[in-house]
Amino acid sequence: MNPNPELVAQCQQFQKQVIELAPGVYGAIGFSASNVYMLIGTDGLVIVDTTESTRAAENVLIEFRKITDKPVKTIIFTHSHRDHISGATVFAEGGNPEVIASDNFESDLVEVKSPHPKPGKALMARTKRQFGMGLSFSDERVSIGIGPGDRPMEGVGAGYMPPSMTVSDARTTLQRCGLELELVKAPGETPDHIVVWLANQRILFSGDNFYSAFPNLYAIRGTPYRDFNAWADTLDLLLSFDSEVLAPGHTLPITNAADIKEALTDYRDAINYVVSETVAGMNQQLGPDELAHMVRLPEHLANKPYLKEFYGKVSWSVRAYFAGTLGWFDGNPTNLAKLSPLDAATRIIKLAGGADKALENAQQAASENDHQWVLELTDHLIVANTHTDSAKLLKVSALRALADIEINAPGRNYYLLSAYEIEQS
Ligand SMILES: [Zn+2]
Repeated sequence: MNPNPELVAQCQQFQKQVIELAPGVYGAIGFSASNVYMLIGTDGLVIVDTTESTRAAENVLIEFRKITDKPVKTIIFTHSHRDHISGATVFAEGGNPEVIASDNFESDLVEVKSPHPKPGKALMARTKRQFGMGLSFSDERVSIGIGPGDRPMEGVGAGYMPPSMTVSDARTTLQRCGLELELVKAPGETPDHIVVWLANQRILFSGDNFYSAFPNLYAIRGTPYRDFNAWADTLDLLLSFDSEVLAPGHTLPITNAADIKEALTDYRDAINYVVSETVAGMNQQLGPDELAHMVRLPEHLANKPYLKEFYGKVSWSVRAYFAGTLGWFDGNPTNLAKLSPLDAATRIIKLAGGADKALENAQQAASENDHQWVLELTDHLIVANTHTDSAKLLKVSALRALADIEINAPGRNYYLLSAYEIEQS
């Protein structure tokens, strides 16, 4: 495998380290998919986010215990995604710290009791592909885009503790361990986000409303519509703090006020740009397929390291915005009652001159590195169940070739795990 060099270079920031952000404030980077922050108070510790697994949390706690032996009294979840809430029991160390989250804390990743059917199995299978669970480290799963590929998975999801206190106001000021903390509601990547403002030291813990990669406005594991406008508005809110340290849920903190201002402004502008360009195209009656190929960030944004498409992707965001506002129908009446995949495949193979000819075309496309066309042609053969084994081999090769070109880590992981799944089918 020869992963995209830009994606490989981005991984350097995920080397394990504990950074002192200010006296008594530390961040653990690279131990897990997400970061953990420790705030040392007079008689105890406040922990912001807790990693995705008990093993990762244990590794972080070992490092924190080299700095202080004060007990953890308060844990704050910035939001309910599993990679932030799953090491809480480790930081509790058998004690009973309070756990604080927003009053709308809840997500598809925390078991939500519902009388209605949910596509849990589909979500699980797609989550495995997005994060490359099952791929080997090094040149396969080089990264997840906002965290290291090489990280412990023992105890994934096992150390969750439910919130013992929730905040309902837009802004809540708390005194904990002699520290003054302001918790501010900040809907963005999820509706249940809160950010933590340490006013005395001008440090803003921003959760996943900022990280150094294009924002994940749509996750290919499958997500409900994420509110683009709310996320952009929240970036304005984050800008209003004039923070001197920005401590994100993933990737390295930014420790300079001017850099923070530039990054948050660009991040907001990138989301607003995707919205305005997509809306303009929609108003010209263009559909998601056309717009996904048309909308590109302007150069001054696209070249910023924190807007590279290592995690989120502009074309997927365009599709998500379309689906989230106008729904699945692209406006073309042809698509109101499309042929079934089997019917379409059978007819296209016939149009190509038969199955042998269609396979020949796919082989020719493969020899020309026309990987996407290989996928589309072989899908027809596989659906029609003709030359299936040869078509699968070609598809697997094309998926691996696309994975190596891909700068987007979830995309890379999805291609690679799908290739294995086809081989094992
Ligand atoms: Zn996260």
